[in-house]
Amino acid sequence: MTEAVLSLGGNIGDREFFITEAMRRLLKDPHVYSLERSGLYETSPVGYTEQDSFLNACVRIETDLEAMELLSLVNRIENELGRVRTIRWGPRTIDIDIIFYGDDVIDTDRLTVPHPRYKERAFVTVPLMDLGIETTGRTEDEGQSVRKIGWTYEI
Ligand code: ATP
Ligand code: CA
Ligand code: CA
Repeated sequence: MTEAVLSLGGNIGDREFFITEAMRRLLKDPHVYSLERSGLYETSPVGYTEQDSFLNACVRIETDLEAMELLSLVNRIENELGRVRTIRWGPRTIDIDIIFYGDDVIDTDRLTVPHPRYKERAFVTVPLMDLGIETTGRTEDEGQSVRKIGWTYEI
């Protein structure tokens, strides 16, 4: 069994619905045994900034999926929830990134873990603190606004 940490975010439609529904679908998978969620945050776009603000959260799951199988599961859930890949870092209903997979270090064409950019992203490092994960990454600076808003939907 492995503890994995995922980052979820989206900025189209009912943003909290997509994040919550993604969590429900993760938990419904027979190979995912538990799920603990961070608070919910409203965040300003990073990278491609001419787009609406995001909602972001992180989860810790226990799973017996291999890392590549977990990537397939999160990609499948993204597709089911209508993720369409257009502009890099552009608008999306849901993006699910694998931040940590246990202590594993993975660097392949399809998967890099720990996620190579998470430390630069306050929209990841701030929710991680809710899960008790302290990082050396950025908290809130350089125009990245991260504001806790709290959940209205149950998983
Ligand atoms: P970023 O990776 O900077 O957050 P993004 O999430 O918008 O950007 P995507 O279009 O969602 O990028 O993903 C591009 C590819 O990244 C995926 O097809 C996947 O194979 C690969 N990838 C590599 N490492 C990871 C990871 N740790 N978690 C999720 N996808 C990853
Ligand atoms: Ca991402
Ligand atoms: Ca992604």
